[in-house]
Formats: sequence, C-alpha cells, structure tokens
Amino acid sequence: MSETLFPLAPGSTIAILGGGQLGRMLALAAARLGFDTLVLSPEPDAIAGRVATRRLVAGYGDEHALEALSQLACLATFEFENVPATVVEKLIALGVEVAPGARALAVAQDRVEEKTFLNACGAPTVAFAAISSLDDLRAAIDVIGAPALLKTRREGYDGKGQTWVENHADIEPAWARLGGAPAILEARADFMRELSVIAARARNGDVVAYPLSENHHEAGVLRRTRAPARATPAIRDQAATLAARILTTLDYVGVMGVELFEFADGRLLVNEIAPRVHNSGHWTLDGCEVDQFEQHIRAIAGWPLGPVTALAQVEMENLLGDEVEAWPRLAAESEARLWLYGKDEARPGRKMGHVNRLRPLGD
Ligand code: AMP
Repeated sequence: MSETLFPLAPGSTIAILGGGQLGRMLALAAARLGFDTLVLSPEPDAIAGRVATRRLVAGYGDEHALEALSQLACLATFEFENVPATVVEKLIALGVEVAPGARALAVAQDRVEEKTFLNACGAPTVAFAAISSLDDLRAAIDVIGAPALLKTRREGYDGKGQTWVENHADIEPAWARLGGAPAILEARADFMRELSVIAARARNGDVVAYPLSENHHEAGVLRRTRAPARATPAIRDQAATLAARILTTLDYVGVMGVELFEFADGRLLVNEIAPRVHNSGHWTLDGCEVDQFEQHIRAIAGWPLGPVTALAQVEMENLLGDEVEAWPRLAAESEARLWLYGKDEARPGRKMGHVNRLRPLGD
C-alpha cells in the first residue's frame, strides 16, 4: 500500500464499480468531500454515472476499461458484492487500491464461505450445511430438520434464489426449484425481529457502529427501517461487538451492513454480511451526523471516521415500483426527506427511491 496515497487528497478521483442507487449516493457523498468520481458500469445511462464526474460504459471484466480506470483513479470501491475476484486482481495489478478488499468479497459471495467465516470468528449463525446433490440435501434435512431454507450459495439477493423445504416430501421438488445449483441449507430462524448494524472500519483500524436498524421485509425485499431501534444495552453491545469482530478479522476498510436475527431470549445471530453500504443504512442520510455514504468515502480514502450519533428518530420507507409516483405528495410532507434515484422505468418491486420521515429523538 502506498504510504503517500492516504489520506487521499480532495481533487483525487475515486472509481466506483456499479451504476445503481448505492453508487449514485456514494458519488454524491464523494463530491461533497471534494473528490471526483468515475463510475464503471455496463449500462449506458446508469443512474450513478449521471451524477459522477466521469463514466466508463463497459463490462466489469473489460481489460481496456480497467486500464482506462487505472489511468484516472488510484482508488476503487464497489456498490455490489458480486464483483468478480479477477476484476479486483486486475485492478490491484494495475496499481489501483481496492477497498473493501478481495477477502471480504470472497467471503460475502458464497453463503457457505460466509457462515463458515462468521462462526470461526465468533459470530454465531443458524445451523447450516453445504449442499451439492440431492443426497446431501436428504442427509442435511435429517440433521437440521424441516422446514428449512434452501438458498443458492452464490448470487441470491432480495430473497431471490431461495426456497423453503417444507417437509421430507418436498426435498426433491425444492432441489428442482433451485435448479440443482450449489446450495446451502439453513435451519429456520424463529426470530423475534430483524435488525442490522451498519459499521465502518478505517485504514488505521478504528471501528464505529451506527445505532441499530430494525428492518421489515415484504416478499424478501426491505420495506421499511426504523432507527435507532429500541433495544436493550445488552443487545446494542452484542451487535457492536459482533460487527467489530467481523470487520477487524477481515482487515476490512469501508462500510459494511451486518444483518442480524434477534431472538426472544436475547441472542443475536448473523444472517449475512454485505461488504458495502446497505439499504438499511439509508436512514443515516438524514438521521445521523455523518451518513453511511460519507463514512464509506472517509474510510476508503484514509480519512478519520466521522461521528455516528443519531440526530433524529427515522422511519425509512423504500419507494418500490410505481409508489414513486407519489413524489408530489411526499415532497409536500414537512417531516419527509425524499431521495429519488432517477430511474426511468418503475418496474414492480424495483427500488425507485426512499423517504426518511424524521421525529425528534425519544418521541
Ligand atoms: P437473505 O437473502 O439471506 O438476506 O434472506 C432474505 C430474508 O429471508 C431475510 O431477511 C429473512 O427475513 C429471511 N430469512 C433468511 N434466512 C432465514 C432463515 N434461516 N430462517 C428464517 N428466515 C430467514
């Protein structure tokens, strides 16, 4: 790592891989701190590219594009976890610093690797088994019991690539529903609530954790987040300790979303980790001193981390599909802060924007 690169000076260019709303809000935060941005994404009119200083329209594996990127940017980050490992290797070979690093990506891209890593670093998860065949699935159901959740090892998101195995008779149909892809079988978590903690780790090893988010999903997609979540000090400490352990063990640099299940007996299990800014952290945009996007830019640029203190009680609601058409009404609501992503096609379930509704803390 270059000793002189960090802290990265304003005026430098930060490359962002991925052209969606997370990349867009990262580019806006980087601009606020005086950085230029370069967005690499295959879509010609990516919503992140539209607010960046420069855009490169190419596939992530495009060697010419990566070379062009390395001429313009000395630091690269990403807004999605499925960046191929080969792309990160190529960028590093071209002299570009990449944060978060290859290890965090490898762990987050494969659900079996992820849970194995989490358990090894003292972050408990549901019981699970790696599944490569119908026989594996039969054997795993005998141990884990039914119902259990069968998920593809790779590339599932927003509840896609997963199916319940309801009982023994459902083993073969469930395996067929996932198309026989390499999978993980997870014990059903009878949780009380879903929480997440957004945490950041700086280049000097400092770690901060935002107040907890309480998350509500519909059809596998995040519907709303309430934060800071009401929680006992013991739960808050447990979440912060888990996050610090995970980020430190990965030698992580940047912001991470850690999704948690809370049980009635006060236990927390980690569902999954997202090595990037996270939808359940959007409340920080209006509810915290320094939001998750600026925090990520600060961390990867080798700047000091900012304060994560909550300034307001926030309810964040995703605007899915044509719900975005309510923007004139939402814009007129005095307690609502509106974030629209600039997507032109409001397909059903597509994340088109979000709204943060603010109340004084303690209300
Ligand atoms: P994931 O894609 O792993 O984040 O899962 C999406 C959603 O499915 C989670 O937010 C939970 O609501 C639910 N879910 C995931 N894993 C489990 C599990 N092992 N038991 C019960 N519900 C789960």
